[in-house]
Amino acid sequence: MPPSMIQKILTLCLLFVSAVSIATAQTNKVTAPKKEDPQPTVIDPGAPGKAPSDAIVLFDGKDLSMFRGERKPEPGWKIDNGVMESTPPGGIFSKEEFADCQVHVEFAAPSNVKGNDQGRGNSGVYLMGRYEIQILDNYENKTYPNGQCGAMYGHHVPLVNACRKPGEWQTYDIIFHPPKKRVDGTVKAGSFTVFHNGVLIQDNVPVTGEGTAASPLRGIVEKGPLYLQDHGNPVRFRNVWVRKLASVSEVTSSGKDTASVSQRTSTGMITGKVTLKGTPPAESVNDLLVADVSCGKFHTTPPTTHHWVVGAKGELANVVVMLRGMDGKSKGASAAPAVLDQKNCQYVPQILAVQTGQKITVKNSDPLMHNVHSLPIVTGNNEGNVGMMERSPDLSLSFPRAENFLKFKCDVHPWMFAWVTVVDHPYFAVTARDGSFTIKDVPPGKYKIAAYHRKAASAGMEREVEVTADGGMSNFELSVPSTN
Ligand code: MG
Repeated sequence: MPPSMIQKILTLCLLFVSAVSIATAQTNKVTAPKKEDPQPTVIDPGAPGKAPSDAIVLFDGKDLSMFRGERKPEPGWKIDNGVMESTPPGGIFSKEEFADCQVHVEFAAPSNVKGNDQGRGNSGVYLMGRYEIQILDNYENKTYPNGQCGAMYGHHVPLVNACRKPGEWQTYDIIFHPPKKRVDGTVKAGSFTVFHNGVLIQDNVPVTGEGTAASPLRGIVEKGPLYLQDHGNPVRFRNVWVRKLASVSEVTSSGKDTASVSQRTSTGMITGKVTLKGTPPAESVNDLLVADVSCGKFHTTPPTTHHWVVGAKGELANVVVMLRGMDGKSKGASAAPAVLDQKNCQYVPQILAVQTGQKITVKNSDPLMHNVHSLPIVTGNNEGNVGMMERSPDLSLSFPRAENFLKFKCDVHPWMFAWVTVVDHPYFAVTARDGSFTIKDVPPGKYKIAAYHRKAASAGMEREVEVTADGGMSNFELSVPSTN
């Protein structure tokens, strides 16, 4: 037998052995498929540009009946020729609330190009009213990367800039799984996957916090409305729909997750809750605000002071929780700006925390004049006093030194106060209405952690927290001060 023939026979034998072993392996692993197996639900995917049959259509060009307004019950956005346009004052919330979902939104930046940086074609799609996928006209328009079009605002830069030209229709297809609170109070991260004009720009990135900057709602909840932002730029929208999805994983009582989302998230998240012991003094009605001709009409119920924002079980909001001994680690210069708004003649939020050097964007959402008067007491932080007319451009401020509860007031409206805590590192948070906080991206180790409330007796109480790859937890109980 010639050598070439021997080689052919050997090759055939090898192929036969491989085929048998593959077949064996397959029969070992897979049961024979049957037509009787449960079938995926049949849906109509819809004609191009139309919603699938299992979607909840929020806007199909006819009306805004699926939305409510941010500032008033009726959503006041203009509709023209099947297209809605963000129209001041305020954004719109879907009446229906969603948790895990797929969202489709078509949008177009104004074709009449005005402004630059964050002031050009700015809007946003906020899942649960909390987590923003930024809408911005970034066609040949630069801004900070984690605030550009397609960014999870302030958190995740898009993989590419897939913007079309101003005026051209663009699409977002978003797959969102919300963060969830475990029974032990820690938080299991959710995720965002986003396609912009069909291009993957966010690839299963974690969603861990209480909300992106400027989000109208806060706190980790089971479901929430879809929110479209009005940022003073006439961004147009059409064809908005949502499909509800099954949760990717359930949170078990042991605190362990049954699926893998949390395994992909960053480590070192400190979570916890702050509660208040004792009954705080009653808040007083803000008579000056009620009596003010311009400001009083913004409030249908008399506004009160809100020194103590306390839940039914003592959950305490507006507490600044921070790691101690971490000074000098500020990343404020590259952080997304924090937002301080003047809305309905009050500062929102009243308690804000930022890093040293981090920009604070001060807005005036009111149709009247305010003045922003900052009164630092730490040397190196400069006092500021700037008037802001209706529709004034946003102010941008920052402070180079750490300072707790740096006071902001308005000299036009003497009841208006905000307190901004400036921290020389990124490891801090302000508690939400349910008293919870999340400090992200902490390297594993042992730390001192402290909680500061403007009025509570034990404000500033300090303790130790250990952070491992699974994170760490620290709860605080502050108390109402005695009167003497
Ligand atoms: Mg925005």
